[in-house]
Amino acid sequence: MIKKILYATCLGFLALIGCKKDGSSIGALPGKDDAAFAVYENSFLEGLWKLDPNWATSVGYHKYDSLLLVPDNKLRDKLVTYAKVQIDSLSRFEVNTLNESNRIDYRIMQNQMELLEWKLQQLKEYQWNPASYNVTGTFAYILNEHYEPLAQRLRHFYQKMANIPAYYKEAEKQIKNPVAELTSLAINQHIGGIGIFEKDFADSLKKTNIPAAEQKQMMSRAKTSADAIKAYAEWLKALKNDKPHSFRLGKELYEAKFKYEIQSDFTAQQIYNSAVERKKYLHREMAKISKKLWPKYFGNAPVPADSLELISKVIDTLSAKHAEPADFQSAIEKEIPKLTAFVKTKDLVTLDPSKPLIVRREPGYMSGVAGASMSSPGPYDKGGNSYFNVGSLSGWPATRAESYMREYNNYTLQILCIHEAIPGHYVQLLYANKTPGLIKSIFGNGAMVEGWAVYSEEMMLDNGFGGDDPEMRLMWYKWHLRSVCNAILDYAVHTQNMTQQDALKLLTHEAFQQQAEAEGKWQRVTVSSVQLDSYYTGYKEIMNLRNDWKKKAGDKYKLKEFNEKFLSYGSAPVKLIKDAMLTKPADNNTGK
Ligand code: ZN
Ligand code: ZN
Repeated sequence: MIKKILYATCLGFLALIGCKKDGSSIGALPGKDDAAFAVYENSFLEGLWKLDPNWATSVGYHKYDSLLLVPDNKLRDKLVTYAKVQIDSLSRFEVNTLNESNRIDYRIMQNQMELLEWKLQQLKEYQWNPASYNVTGTFAYILNEHYEPLAQRLRHFYQKMANIPAYYKEAEKQIKNPVAELTSLAINQHIGGIGIFEKDFADSLKKTNIPAAEQKQMMSRAKTSADAIKAYAEWLKALKNDKPHSFRLGKELYEAKFKYEIQSDFTAQQIYNSAVERKKYLHREMAKISKKLWPKYFGNAPVPADSLELISKVIDTLSAKHAEPADFQSAIEKEIPKLTAFVKTKDLVTLDPSKPLIVRREPGYMSGVAGASMSSPGPYDKGGNSYFNVGSLSGWPATRAESYMREYNNYTLQILCIHEAIPGHYVQLLYANKTPGLIKSIFGNGAMVEGWAVYSEEMMLDNGFGGDDPEMRLMWYKWHLRSVCNAILDYAVHTQNMTQQDALKLLTHEAFQQQAEAEGKWQRVTVSSVQLDSYYTGYKEIMNLRNDWKKKAGDKYKLKEFNEKFLSYGSAPVKLIKDAMLTKPADNNTGK
């Protein structure tokens, strides 16, 4: 489940990043056909990248790599104007005259511009979220991705550093009564990212033949940058914050954020209600399996009368089978070929062997939110690497590491790998990068992406992965309960004032999580919102869509065909994919 993919996290950067000159960049003249729309899409993106070079870099568009824009009021005004102009430009197209792919793009672009306006004018995260000013990720990206010769990337890195002091000075001006939890996160992430300037940059310089005098200058600016970042972290530490903004979003902002970020047919409240029902269903099924397994593991011992206690005891016994904390990464590496073979044998979805997956230790600049995640090549960087980032447990107290490894035991570790890699995120994102056009990848929908990963877990089990063992099914239910409880937790915490105590009780008692996992989840829900809702929402929508598709296909239904058709739309919102898959194209367009 774990966490958002790299470029999805960048959606959050949008609100804060700087602008060059005149950002309002009006698009090409609108027309009524697809050719005109394609021209407009291009200018739409070009205008956006000028206003948000960090986002551009993260998706693989490198024209503005050397720019860091200062996040001041003027920049925000330019972004709002940009959004208004684009909404107006879009309204001059007749959406029904566009082909299927462009109709989806149109609705994504319109939603994105509404989201941008809403974020800057209603959500105002730039005031209360100090972590949203973190630039270390973009610098790390320039340093680590091999899209241009090293010396060239380092020179862009150098030019981009010029504005770091001004950038953080402005951040200090913009921040008012920040959320305490986000302040701590910002301090940790900024300190965690300093190594990029203090060490990684220098190490990389040594590998180039950039003249010594120039290198010296570059090193000196890296020092100034590191100092500015440290000063920001120190400023945050010392900040007198008597009336911090609550980390809880409240119902109104939450529903609005859900509407724009998830783009679902459901409301957040409906998803919450559905998740509560799903939890009850899972508890019933888990009790049945646990009763069946009881004699195998507990012999003649009396079966606990309380069904949650019964389930918990069986899960606890099964969780004892786990790798050593030091072997977490190598255990993951061993799973990948097994999953590849299974997907091929069962003919579930076509895999692309030319794009290998690299398992690596999670880079420092990413840490602080979750333990394992995928980073995939951006839409402009189709040849880039796919990384399976694994957090290190070294330095953890033994009891915490043990608790974590019980959570990622021999059963759930396999599910983790399905979710993150095959046929989960890694496979989905390879398909997404094959989708023609850029809009669907650039504005990748988190609920579609996470929903696919959750859906793929169940699909693997339903096709016999794990040998139809009741143990595996029980542990998957437990794992799936996590997605379901993520949705319950996120909504209840942000809109119903759920306390930390009740949250931990839900996660440990009703979702059978280890203490370390539950505490990590609590931390995450205090520094994010709506994102935890995306897993269950996307899953539910994909399952609904597959049922509808099945009915429509009748005897001709093939799972692989559904999977590949679904993935062929890229990371578009499930709602829009559904419209495309279930609706016949209009008469006057050729589709595509
Ligand atoms: Zn995921
Ligand atoms: Zn153990």
